[in-house]
Amino acid sequence: MSKPLLSLQNVEKHFGTFKAVDQVSIDINENEFFALLGASGSGKTTLLRMIAGFEDLTSGALLLDGDDISAVPAHRRPVNLMFQSYALFPHLNVARNIAYGLEMERLPRKEITARVDEILETIQLSHVAARKPDQLSGGQRQRVALARALVKRPRILLLDEPLGALDKKLRGEMQLELKRIQDEFGITFIVVTHDQEEALVMADRIAILKDGKLLQIGSPSEIYEHPNSRFSAEFIGVMNFLPVVRSGDGYQDRNGAAITATDRGVLGHGATLVAAVRPERMLLNPEPHLNQLTGRISALAYHGLDLQVHLETPSSPQPVMVRLTADAAEGLNLSIGDTLAVGWSAKDTRIFDA
Ligand code: ATP
Repeated sequence: MSKPLLSLQNVEKHFGTFKAVDQVSIDINENEFFALLGASGSGKTTLLRMIAGFEDLTSGALLLDGDDISAVPAHRRPVNLMFQSYALFPHLNVARNIAYGLEMERLPRKEITARVDEILETIQLSHVAARKPDQLSGGQRQRVALARALVKRPRILLLDEPLGALDKKLRGEMQLELKRIQDEFGITFIVVTHDQEEALVMADRIAILKDGKLLQIGSPSEIYEHPNSRFSAEFIGVMNFLPVVRSGDGYQDRNGAAITATDRGVLGHGATLVAAVRPERMLLNPEPHLNQLTGRISALAYHGLDLQVHLETPSSPQPVMVRLTADAAEGLNLSIGDTLAVGWSAKDTRIFDA
């Protein structure tokens, strides 16, 4: 294993008696696109501000290339933070906005121009270099802010909800764009987001935070396929939860049906348990060896690529969601009130403490 670029070791932040960040340890690698994901108040921004050097650590350490930088002031860290509100200078044009940080460093004029031109090209803004911020679209303003942070060539770029101000379509485009830019510059990006889809699309690895604590860390597919808690399972993607009780080697749902899970899927050991299944893992016309449930269709939602079917079933207090591909749904003519049987494999069952 190569040495991590940035190592957070038992990092804590207290505000009075309140622990905003509680014993967080994370290693982040060179060139990694890393996402800090959590609900509002989970401590994401506080963690980012500590990495930037805007906030002291209450305890723990922050290592860069193995050196403790916990006490290094913000402006001496090879780290740049792109703010949620883009804070561009309204009276300066795009090129001058980007050049500003380099001018502060008193770099030679020729070098500043070369670096600004290079970045304008990469970020595809050359054609608007002479415009003022109020003559740009939201997406363009966002790119200028990014260019301004990147032009200083930090080793780590911190982004706090970078796409929060954009509409849904633009956000989708910018997710891919941020990933392309990160790849092209080879800079480590650490992004704070509360949007699980954004984290899944952009990040090489994701850390899930809850109440200041690190719950799980892994690649998007590791977390999606093998959430380590009910919270992670619910936070990333959609998950159905069926209350179950232990029965022999396996489990039994409320309706008395047997439920099986492979060893790797068994994470719950307490008295009250739930079996968790992703909607897209539920199949029509289940074979007898699969886990099964039957329900009455209470709602149908067509999404183009797939059809989401809500089933009311004695196996669960809430409707179960089944996601059928358009192909699988075609010709079935499903209607509300119909009865539907679905099944899923033991490897797609996760057992959690309720
Ligand atoms: P959001 O997505 O809403 O920004 P977050 O996950 O980034 O949330 P933080 O901003 O890190 O959360 O805040 C974590 C907790 O710490 C919150 O409960 C917040 O109220 C508290 N907190 C943050 N800064 C301070 C401060 N300066 N003084 C006291 N409490 C603070």
